[in-house]
Amino acid sequence: MIDVLIIGAGPAGLSAAIYTERSGKHAVCLEALTVGGQIVNTPEIANYPGIKNISGFEFSMGLYEQATELGAEVIYDKALSIASIEDETGTYKKVTTVSGKEYLCRAVIIATGARNRHLGLAKEEEFTGKGVSYCATCDGAFFRKKDVAVNGGGNTALEDALFLSNYCNKVYIIHRRDQFRGEPQNLEAVKNKENIEFVLNSNVIELTGESSLEAVIVKDKITEETRKIPVSGLFIAIGQEPDNKDFEDVAELDQAGYIASDESCKTKTPGVFVAGDCRTKNVRQLTTAASDGAIAALAACEFCNLGTRE
Ligand code: NAP
Repeated sequence: MIDVLIIGAGPAGLSAAIYTERSGKHAVCLEALTVGGQIVNTPEIANYPGIKNISGFEFSMGLYEQATELGAEVIYDKALSIASIEDETGTYKKVTTVSGKEYLCRAVIIATGARNRHLGLAKEEEFTGKGVSYCATCDGAFFRKKDVAVNGGGNTALEDALFLSNYCNKVYIIHRRDQFRGEPQNLEAVKNKENIEFVLNSNVIELTGESSLEAVIVKDKITEETRKIPVSGLFIAIGQEPDNKDFEDVAELDQAGYIASDESCKTKTPGVFVAGDCRTKNVRQLTTAASDGAIAALAACEFCNLGTRE
């Protein structure tokens, strides 16, 4: 019987693992993909209090080492369901995974983060890995000296454009509005790059090419004119969406699919907690993910101490 099973080993999940182990309970993280989650691909983190500058990879590895050195385990498997079980020994949870394993635990923390949003265009899936990418840090180097485009207006899009401008011949930043969500410092840095061109108030409406991406067709929302921009890479950075469907039996989802919870990180099911980007919140940042991890872990440990009943 595991004390606290944590679904996801991103910043929220690993922070929860650190707090669980330091509270004298055992934490096991189930991770479907990569330790560190989305942040592992961020070239530079400059807004985590106390750390002036660090790469997402280094930060993730630091979290992983800290959690595992304290005794937490990370198992690579994807959780499919959470069931509440009640018998003479008390109540506990059974988490079933894609590999067919079943994990019994006293408390569960859902920390599944969010996944990259897709544009939903024809050929988007076909061209993924053949010009279309959702990760500039992972794939940028393949486009050395080429012309590429970034779609989006948040920090990810701005940082991707900056990163790519160091490798690529030309970077178009295509955004559906003329105001950016990203931080002013990032926008200023993008504006100062001579090889970045803004394509504003525009949507990507088509991807063209034979066996790989050769151009994007964009439509200006104001003039309604379309324009073909020859590029060999399109980096889609239009935000994230949650992947919580598997947990809707135990946790209420909001309209956008995030797990409804407040700062207490509790869900509607006693013993099931939620932390990080997968829950309803206004600010999805590393700091808030780590904070949720701590809150959820301490609540989960308290739940274990209470003899599994709230
Ligand atoms: P985001 O802030 O949600 O921005 C998504 C962008 O994509 C928005 O500009 C949005 O346009 C646009 N968009 C959404 N759906 C679209 C669609 N279907 N078609 C075209 N455009 C669409 O996402 P993000 O940039 O990935 O950032 C996520 C969070 O992580 C944010 O809180 C961000 O600050 C944080 N982050 C922080 C750092 C850092 O601090 N170093 C780095 C990366 C990300 P509208 O503006 O018109 O809605």
